[in-house]
Amino acid sequence: MMRSLRLLISAVLLFTTLASAQTAAPAPPTNATATTVSQFDINGAVQAYFAKMPPARRAQSDAYFEGGYWMILWDFLVSAFVMWLLLHFRWSSKMRNLAEWIAPAPFTPIQTAIYWVQFFILVDILTFPLSLYEGYFREHKYGLLNQTFGPWMRDQLVMAGVGVILGAILVIPLFWVVRRLGQNWWVWGAVVMIVFAAFVSLIAPVYVSPLFNQYNLLEDAKIKDPILQMARANGIPAKNVYEFDASKQSNRVSANVSGFANTMRISLNDNLINRCTLPEIQTTMGHEMGHYVLNHEYKGLVMVGVVIVIGFAFLNWGINFALARWGAAWEVRGITDIAVLPLASIVLSLFFFLTTPINNTITRTMEYEADMYGLNAARQPDAEANVDMFLGEYRKLDPGPVEEFIFYDHPSGRVRITAAMRWKAEHLDTSNVEEMNRVLFPQK
Ligand SMILES: [Zn+2]
Repeated sequence: MMRSLRLLISAVLLFTTLASAQTAAPAPPTNATATTVSQFDINGAVQAYFAKMPPARRAQSDAYFEGGYWMILWDFLVSAFVMWLLLHFRWSSKMRNLAEWIAPAPFTPIQTAIYWVQFFILVDILTFPLSLYEGYFREHKYGLLNQTFGPWMRDQLVMAGVGVILGAILVIPLFWVVRRLGQNWWVWGAVVMIVFAAFVSLIAPVYVSPLFNQYNLLEDAKIKDPILQMARANGIPAKNVYEFDASKQSNRVSANVSGFANTMRISLNDNLINRCTLPEIQTTMGHEMGHYVLNHEYKGLVMVGVVIVIGFAFLNWGINFALARWGAAWEVRGITDIAVLPLASIVLSLFFFLTTPINNTITRTMEYEADMYGLNAARQPDAEANVDMFLGEYRKLDPGPVEEFIFYDHPSGRVRITAAMRWKAEHLDTSNVEEMNRVLFPQK
């Protein structure tokens, strides 16, 4: 049974990987395309954009992003080591004993909550040196963080508070399902997880994001009107656009469509407004509107749901495997015992570590779709390429295809700028002179 489960998982993983590999990267443009349309040299145009970034700046961006690959490994190793400490020294079983002593038998959900709070605080403290390096010193080293230590630490504490509360909202029903269903917990457990993900998506823009940044209605009609005009043209029922003070944290340019149903909103960060021209803002919003129109929120939830079902099956197998060997030594009574949480965390982070390329490909594919949508909605290929260069400040511009497949949760600068220039090339050959000029000189 167990063996077959393992085979099933690897088969599904392999299939998913192959399926994604086919859709991952767009075909590189050939000169044939360029000559049939016009004499526009797509690759030359891409290189011209790349050349806009000084070599030193580019080397720094590459180093930052490539360092991020190692951070994925270190995050996994450090968290697994900390979880192992909790099991090996029986801190986990001691925290459970304390929870049981404070809230005896019928109050099982309260026991779960008490254990969770202890677990979360302990793990947060033990992994803090890594968080400090990764989130503070490393970001400063590359000039990507605008915060001094005090405000940064304040954000970390708020984040921890959110983590404790949201984690409890997830862990309590999850363990209720495990206790109810025993070995068959994982299918319904995955359902709990997906409902939880949808819940977080729904409340985050209204209750979580404002804890870190201030959101105001964008009043500037010169920016707001063209955005709402584009939204209406694309069937998006947005009445307002929000602006938030991301410059508090960094100079990164970004925008997002967040929320679900009633909480859906378009937000622009102030870096985008301050650093970019109107066409650049429009093309960015075209991309964000693409996410909305293409229902990426729902599709993402379904695809991530599939990954989670497989992940939870793997988790169930992994927990049983480890408990049969070391359960007694760790004083973990079984899968229904909350003290199993550090073990669950090791197995699940192993799963997500190994499936990094799959999860990245799920998001990267949707991001590419949003790029295509944005190009057609905003019709500003050069502005799009400019924005892609801004993003190149912290995302390596020109990776190899395998590197992009494994590590990129958004398309690389090369893929995005190539797509923009290909769009431009295909729209140059038009009899409409006005249209042609608009494409050729989008900034004027
Ligand atoms: Zn996007």
